[in-house]
Amino acid sequence: MKLGVIGTGYVGLVSGVCFAENGNHVICMDVDAKKIERLKKGDPVIYEPQLEELLKKNIEEGRVTFTTSLKEVTTKTDVIFLSLPTPPLEDGSVDLSRVLDVAGKMAKYITKYKIIVSKSTVPVGTCDKIRKMIAKKARAKFDVVSNPEFLKEGAAVDDFMSPDRVVVGTRSKKAAEIMNELYSSFMRISDRFILMDERSSEMTKYAANAMLALRISFMNELANLSEKTKADIGMIRIGIGTDDRIGSSFLFPGVGYGGSCFPKDVKGLLKTAEEYKFDFKILKAIDEINHNQKLVLVNKMLKHYKNKLKGRTFTIWGLSYKPRTDDLREAPALTIIENLLSYGAKLNVCDPVADENFKMLYGKKFKGVKIFKDNYAALKNSDGLVLVTEWNEFRRLDMDKMKKLMKNRVIFDGRNIYNPKFIKSNGFKYYGIGR
Ligand code: NAD
Repeated sequence: MKLGVIGTGYVGLVSGVCFAENGNHVICMDVDAKKIERLKKGDPVIYEPQLEELLKKNIEEGRVTFTTSLKEVTTKTDVIFLSLPTPPLEDGSVDLSRVLDVAGKMAKYITKYKIIVSKSTVPVGTCDKIRKMIAKKARAKFDVVSNPEFLKEGAAVDDFMSPDRVVVGTRSKKAAEIMNELYSSFMRISDRFILMDERSSEMTKYAANAMLALRISFMNELANLSEKTKADIGMIRIGIGTDDRIGSSFLFPGVGYGGSCFPKDVKGLLKTAEEYKFDFKILKAIDEINHNQKLVLVNKMLKHYKNKLKGRTFTIWGLSYKPRTDDLREAPALTIIENLLSYGAKLNVCDPVADENFKMLYGKKFKGVKIFKDNYAALKNSDGLVLVTEWNEFRRLDMDKMKKLMKNRVIFDGRNIYNPKFIKSNGFKYYGIGR
């Protein structure tokens, strides 16, 4: 099929490259001309496992091309995916300006039947809005379909190539058939093509993210209570996760969820509820709990150092909101850094891939924060190690090296990846979450 992708970020680029890998011809379009130049040369711009190899291969084999022209991507393709940003506005509502602007501008190029697919996460009713925008100028029939994306950063290519399910929202038989055909090559093992109406499809994406955020916030609250009652959240997690009705995923307590999706989508769904005058109590609690959880390590540090963080040096391992991505959006590390700096602490930070993004995006805001390539070098004269992101690189500790480097032997483990007994037996003080 001839496919277009508008917006070549985490979702758009991965979708475009994976569709190409499965034999389609894909034109990817972005407003960012510098990004398009780099993509043309096979540089994926973002860090995502396997993406670079697949990108280079599909460029070489001529199945994926890049452009900044909206006209080109609209006229030369039959199914066009909108994978544009839908960031939160100040009041938490979803900013649809890019999606609706592109829909309005592409309309005049629609001179034969096309399917416009909303892959961005958008509130219920957005497909209707896109349809209205396009209908103003389109000169041929078209369908607007909802097809929310469920890939996870850090495993995006695998998720896209072997999806748990593909949700498609449309009431058009023709569009449903074409979408089914397009995705059939991704579902050779099990057919999980789930067809529904646009509104249910749009809501499904928010429901999934809100449910996952709920599990995390529930476990974080349970961890905080476990700490007070001297119960061990690690054991409780295993105790409940082995119940088939509960399942074991998304039960890890930590320093709060981050990323471009959960925080934004919980707030976005809350806004939808507000619009419909529905008091979504549990969703408000998820958001509030997460806000507080991002500060849980800072509070432990304040207590340990008797409120005197000024002039002390701390080492932060992990900046990205989760391992295997360079994405810093809403990363708990940013909240922790901001707070520690406000208490007058000095910071050495290290991340295997997000360090460059950190320097570029936050170098000015967090002036004075020292970025290290080597995580042990960042420990020199440190008053405490703060583990924020559980990169595999940080899982094994060379305690002898740490003893020599650190001024104070304290570890704040925001992801419970270390064995407290082992840490303590090496003469270090250990703080985890809920254990
Ligand atoms: P992103 O910021 O990584 O990428 C968006 C891209 O769109 C950028 O390259 C940007 O330059 C481009 N763009 C902006 N305005 C444009 C315009 N007018 N015309 C053409 N290109 C334009 O965003 P993302 O993380 O890929 O998210 C895209 C959507 O997918 C969002 O709605 C998000 O909620 C949703 N989503 C994201 C993920 C994820 O893990 N990142 C997962 C599922 C769904």
